[in-house]
Amino acid sequence: MIRNVLVPGRDGPCSISISDGCIASIQAEAEAAECQEGLLWALPGLIDLQVNDMTWLDSSTSRTTPEEHAARIRHVRDLHLKQGVTGLVLATLAAPLDIVKAYLEGSARVVNDDSSFYGCLVEGTFMNPDCCGCHNKDYIYSPSLSRLHELISTRGVRMLNVAPEMGNAEDTIDVIRAATREGITVGTGHAKPSARTLRNAVEAGCKYIIHLGNASGSSLKAFGDGGMIEEALRNDDLNITVIGDCIHVHPSILLDWIARKSLDRVIAYSDQAFAAGLPSSNRFRVFGRDGCLAEDRTHLRVDDLESDVPLLFGSCVTMLKVFENFVNLFTRDVQGIYYRHHAGVALSNAVAKAVQLCSTNPAKLLGKDEVVGSLRPGLEANILLVKIIERIGYKEGVNNKYQVSLLKVFYKGQTV
Ligand SMILES: [Zn+2]
Repeated sequence: MIRNVLVPGRDGPCSISISDGCIASIQAEAEAAECQEGLLWALPGLIDLQVNDMTWLDSSTSRTTPEEHAARIRHVRDLHLKQGVTGLVLATLAAPLDIVKAYLEGSARVVNDDSSFYGCLVEGTFMNPDCCGCHNKDYIYSPSLSRLHELISTRGVRMLNVAPEMGNAEDTIDVIRAATREGITVGTGHAKPSARTLRNAVEAGCKYIIHLGNASGSSLKAFGDGGMIEEALRNDDLNITVIGDCIHVHPSILLDWIARKSLDRVIAYSDQAFAAGLPSSNRFRVFGRDGCLAEDRTHLRVDDLESDVPLLFGSCVTMLKVFENFVNLFTRDVQGIYYRHHAGVALSNAVAKAVQLCSTNPAKLLGKDEVVGSLRPGLEANILLVKIIERIGYKEGVNNKYQVSLLKVFYKGQTV
């Protein structure tokens, strides 16, 4: 039994009872304390749909066995579980196909554990080389059914990126259709399709946009009925995912997109570059691309540019930080870019909205919302106890006003 906690979407302190690893009931406390200040929040466990293990994949060779990959994935999974991520998807880079396949085979073994690891997103293999970002274009392949079957046969693919404008149009649509039939969640990112091409992909089963705004080529012109961002925003059958570090996408744009799509079609994730923590050196090399950690340690940039607008290398935030960023964004009055103004809401409302982006919506995209992603009776008792307080020494524009600290993680009712 968890006593005297605040629960998103409910008034006043509640108690949560757990039985057989699931939530049995959530009830208002009979004798609620007058003052709610200082109470802990109970949140559903966070679900991070995109974490990269760049240094591990880079150091892998064709001799790295699936069992070695599985050991590494278990290590990463346990690390993230301690940080409040009770649902994790690891992404693969543009890398030699035999390395990707061995990693996926390792991933399948960990999926069999029936744990907080849900499988892999094959992100790099079928992307558009023109939009490869920090990936190495030498390891991008044209989408084909035979390559898809090679990937699927590993049993480690949970999500798949397909740039729908790549390869032969019919073959590519067949790949999206076949993957969807296999129960794989198909998305599009590192791509620049016209709106019309993207619509065809959605009809074939494509469900979401991978980190909208980053490595998403787009066009404002009317050819093809517009570009990728335009279709991503107006097509109600598409969910969008965004990197929630407030660096990959400007905070005003994030709020504009949420307003346009509505909260239930937006998913926030970390796109963390180094799944097991930042490398010891501030400089690193991944599949031939040099990168470095920015001096203020807020982001990772490709090292060959002195530009004001660097090419980014994934993020260096945790999923808990992503959650904290959105709690703060929703409580502030923010000037939009396409919308004039976004009015801040009360903290309790902001927490409920951030939960939707970081837990409920990712669960829904994977078809797991009847099992995880919310706090309600019958669902797995994946529960975080967090303290949300106003930061001492808060400076507007420098750090977040509300600080979210994780105190305890329950996974299937057990303390982690
Ligand atoms: Zn990416």
